[in-house]
Amino acid sequence: MNLAESRETRASHHFLITMILLAALVSVGISACTRPQTTAIEVPADADFLFQEKNIARFGLRGSHKVALTFDDGPSSRTTPRLLDLLKAEGVRATFFLVGGHARKNPSLLARLRAEGHVIGNHSDTHANLTQGLYSEEPESVIREIQDTHTVIAPYLVGQKHSYFRAPYGAWTRQHATTLNEIAELSTYIGPIYWTAGGRIKFNSEGAILDAADWQCWSSKSQMSVEQCADGYMAALEGHSGGVALLHDGPENTLALVSVLVQRLKVAGYEFVTLDDLETLDQYQ
Ligand SMILES: [Zn+2]
Repeated sequence: MNLAESRETRASHHFLITMILLAALVSVGISACTRPQTTAIEVPADADFLFQEKNIARFGLRGSHKVALTFDDGPSSRTTPRLLDLLKAEGVRATFFLVGGHARKNPSLLARLRAEGHVIGNHSDTHANLTQGLYSEEPESVIREIQDTHTVIAPYLVGQKHSYFRAPYGAWTRQHATTLNEIAELSTYIGPIYWTAGGRIKFNSEGAILDAADWQCWSSKSQMSVEQCADGYMAALEGHSGGVALLHDGPENTLALVSVLVQRLKVAGYEFVTLDDLETLDQYQ
């Protein structure tokens, strides 16, 4: 190769690299335009974070190969000890959204949850749908739901970065956020926390499973196998390469599901985190 040829080769390499960079920039621009408008929120270590007007549905976990397992509706003396044994054996830490009425009856389980590195969240006191009946009309009743549970779990939140809230059924209103943000005692809360996988069973038009929900998998109508239910969770989580999985501490079959799901996520190279490990939360605008 003479000097002129070598220059020409270098020039064509430069041209090729420039074109690749341009193509990458254009594709980033296009995908950014098609995404919903979001605002990334840095999670400060010790600032007031407050209740948001809408469920927080993005967690900086997409593409991270990290999964946050979350368990709602406990604790239960029937299932929580076995779930904790299982998570301990697998070296997995998770986040538990507790119902105040259940937490009040099981203080030793709250202590064990924290001792084993799990994060405790607030899932209201009676698991009411907060958009219905009295709750849509009387702000006081919503405050009571969150504050009564906070009173029970507060001694166990020491050492957590934040306090987290998940609305029963994901049901929430803008007005609730305004009402609750006026309560000084609740100013450490972030929420409502939504999920990436576990909302409901979904199939595509070809019949491939896209998502599952543990309670629905075990219903008399669905009667899914543990493996098939795990397929749904895997599809939803792998679809985003990470995310928050909604599960429940209560159904017997969910214990078997967690076992299968944890194994499958490990094989696929996923890392397990708690909500306290997240660096950003994205809020839909
Ligand atoms: Zn629930």
